[in-house]
Amino acid sequence: MNNKFFTGAKVLCPACNTRKFVQDQPWKLVCVGCYMERKGNAAPIAKPKPIELEMLRRLIQLCHPDKHANSEASNMATRFLLALKEAAQ
Ligand SMILES: [Zn+2]
Repeated sequence: MNNKFFTGAKVLCPACNTRKFVQDQPWKLVCVGCYMERKGNAAPIAKPKPIELEMLRRLIQLCHPDKHANSEASNMATRFLLALKEAAQ
């Protein structure tokens, strides 16, 4: 792997020796397929931690339309958070 250097050209993946990829960045050493495989083996994607109820209440307070001139964004955010809260209970 250390014999690879930045070429900016389309190169044959040294890991699978079948797929080609454009090495447009110096850190791209293998094709996307091999990269994803390795990533999957090395570190499974962590599930997002659910928001705790106490934090949800805090977020709802902070987003509440009363504090944001009843803006569309605050209404949307509050509705979203309330739905999360209901699902969590
Ligand atoms: Zn590959």
